[in-house]
Amino acid sequence: MSRADAARQLGLTRATITHLVESLSGRNLVTELRPKRQKNSRREPGRPGVTITLHPDGGYFLGAEIGVGVMRFALLDFGLNVVDTVTVSVSPKISPGAAIERVAGHARALEKNGKFKGRLRSLGMTVPGLVRSDGFVVHLPILGWKDVNLQALAESQVHVPTLVENNANAAAFGEAYLKPSQPQDSIVYLKLGTGCGGAAIVNGRLLRGAAGNAGEFGHLRVAASGPQCSCGQVGCLESWVNLAALAKAYRTKMPPAEDGLSLPMRIASKAVEGDRAARAAINSIADYLTIGLLSLTNIFNPHTIFLGGAMRPVLASCLEALRGRVGAGIVPGMRVPEIRLSTLGEMECAIGAATITHHRACDVSHIEIADIG
Ligand SMILES: [Zn+2]
Repeated sequence: MSRADAARQLGLTRATITHLVESLSGRNLVTELRPKRQKNSRREPGRPGVTITLHPDGGYFLGAEIGVGVMRFALLDFGLNVVDTVTVSVSPKISPGAAIERVAGHARALEKNGKFKGRLRSLGMTVPGLVRSDGFVVHLPILGWKDVNLQALAESQVHVPTLVENNANAAAFGEAYLKPSQPQDSIVYLKLGTGCGGAAIVNGRLLRGAAGNAGEFGHLRVAASGPQCSCGQVGCLESWVNLAALAKAYRTKMPPAEDGLSLPMRIASKAVEGDRAARAAINSIADYLTIGLLSLTNIFNPHTIFLGGAMRPVLASCLEALRGRVGAGIVPGMRVPEIRLSTLGEMECAIGAATITHHRACDVSHIEIADIG
């Protein structure tokens, strides 16, 4: 926005805004954009058209997703541009220590290549499991981790403020943070892959619950029996809509972790070719997913439900069916939610983690300009 708009919105004088902008631009935190002057165009009197914006070089924020058999990294600049992404295959049973060594090694490589110019502000990490707000990974059965102080482990090696977040929470937050124009009051997000993570944004904030564990939508009970879920129970939504469920519905063996990620793509393209078994497998996923989406809609009355994760190709091929079934199955009179694929793609958790650290750095409720500068 322009200096005049900033003064108006913040209730400050033009002189104060000028002082603040000069101070912030001296620290490379904001910059002023001048519109390209077109030939023969006359400037509107009193509206110079110069806007203040975040300076991309003001700081850098690294997001790291620790997944099953895979780690993904995304580097965001202060202007929220994604400046670097990397995906690496790792052991599907990677230990916390080995994962942090990978993160630290990646940060060193980025620094060596001049990617963040000595201005890495913070690190955000995600895991597909239960995380406490103090950075403790409480329960991560899919990797076999329990009670790990991941935040302390990371900070001892990467030496920047670090936060640890549930992967679906991070992806949902990133989706909302990078698209401020979309309605933020009520968003539900499901990440379907090896497991099924969930998150809800209610009144513009991540729903956290009493201990930070809210949004475990994958463990909604949708049946009284069924395959055993990663949580130890039976009948959870996750066990009917994840990669293993897809493989089972297609009567194929679940491939090893790294190859498993491409299974949805294979089945979705088979379905396009007219393969009946592939279509039936996708239908089976859609049937159970509908039950979960109906419950979530009845609970949250969401504006939008975003679907992401490794199951994306399968979700894309049944998106219209899901929309129709959810519309027909909710309480009559209730608003039908928009159901969309998440827009950030496979980097959604890493980008989301970086956006949360960016938000913390800019959050006026505990901003410390001296620290940022
Ligand atoms: Zn479960």
